[in-house]
Amino acid sequence: MTLKFNAPYLGGREREYIDEVFRNDTFSGNGPFTRRAQTLLASRYGVPHVLLTHSCTAALEMSALLLDLGPEDEVIVPSYTFSSTAAAFLRSGARIVFCEIEPATLTLDVADVGRRITPRTRAIVPVHYGGISADMSGLAEVVAGRDITLVEDAAQGLEARCGERFLGTIAPLGSISFHETKNLHCGLGGALFVNDPELFERAEDIWERGTDRSKLFKGLVDKYSWVELGSSFYPSELQAAFLLAQLETIDRNTAERKVIHEAYAERFGELERRGLLDLPRAAWPVSLNYHSFFIVCRSGAECDGLRVRLAENQIQAYIGYVPLHSSRMGQKLGYKPGDLPLTEEYAERALRLPFHNRMTVDDVQRVYEVASAFYASRS
Ligand SMILES: *Cc1c(COP(=O)(O)O)cnc(C)c1O
Repeated sequence: MTLKFNAPYLGGREREYIDEVFRNDTFSGNGPFTRRAQTLLASRYGVPHVLLTHSCTAALEMSALLLDLGPEDEVIVPSYTFSSTAAAFLRSGARIVFCEIEPATLTLDVADVGRRITPRTRAIVPVHYGGISADMSGLAEVVAGRDITLVEDAAQGLEARCGERFLGTIAPLGSISFHETKNLHCGLGGALFVNDPELFERAEDIWERGTDRSKLFKGLVDKYSWVELGSSFYPSELQAAFLLAQLETIDRNTAERKVIHEAYAERFGELERRGLLDLPRAAWPVSLNYHSFFIVCRSGAECDGLRVRLAENQIQAYIGYVPLHSSRMGQKLGYKPGDLPLTEEYAERALRLPFHNRMTVDDVQRVYEVASAFYASRS
């Protein structure tokens, strides 16, 4: 039996809530389920305003629109991330400045960010890779006293924390993904956490395709019109209903994932103590949402060998990302392989192992046995 890399989570009441959408007879979005999901997220995480979106990509694009970026502006983004982190800001016309990651967490390297700040830097986008927080206090020190906005790409970070603070709630803007590969999902979905209340009025207009239609609903105006450059950013009520059913089971979801994570950490911790690989370890206080489990191999070649060995045993393991700066699109932006050596090295050495709620500890044991046999055959 193939052990899949990912399997979509199901909370149990998704169909029931979708039936309720039919009874509500409101399908298009910004309806009762959207409001219930937004309220749940806002109260659980202490966020002043939450806007559901059809993806994390959309939430990042909304952030770029809110910042009014243009060709004179620079946005610093780790190269080790998903295309959307950079593309959302590139679309707004800004120049993308790629930075390095630090090897122990594969999140952005704060010292390297500091070296890339110029008078044109308008925003920095920390990515909480695998649900492990970037060094948010280090980053806050680097931008202190400058007119630079932090936008968290917390696509993988819902429920995880940096110190006491939930990811996505630390910077003025935070974006979350509810894609089916994330802990909780609605097929495709996301949310924008508007942590700076001053940004909310415009955020809501941008979300409503650039109109002040939300004010009509609140009885503040008697007709609505086009006021901003926005787009169609919200999900339908069908997605919001599916999502609410999932959000209501978040404690169970996290508890199940924790069991799998601990089983991996115990077994692969033993391989780490033998010096065969490294496990991620933040030098700042973090608490996990158990989004993923990845290992850092001793070399790119060894990582690839292990990946192939796992595949031969019907176990799906994958690398994280091809660095954006060395991708075909990155090269169109003027970057080239060799520009970010640490990122290139660790992108080849990091391997993500199967991780989802349908896995059992026996599945983890199976991954471990194949990995240990692989290392035994090499020594
Ligand atoms: C999944 C992911 C995204 C994109 O999320 P979508 O909801 O699919 O748009 C962006 N950034 C990171 C780091 C991700 O993991």
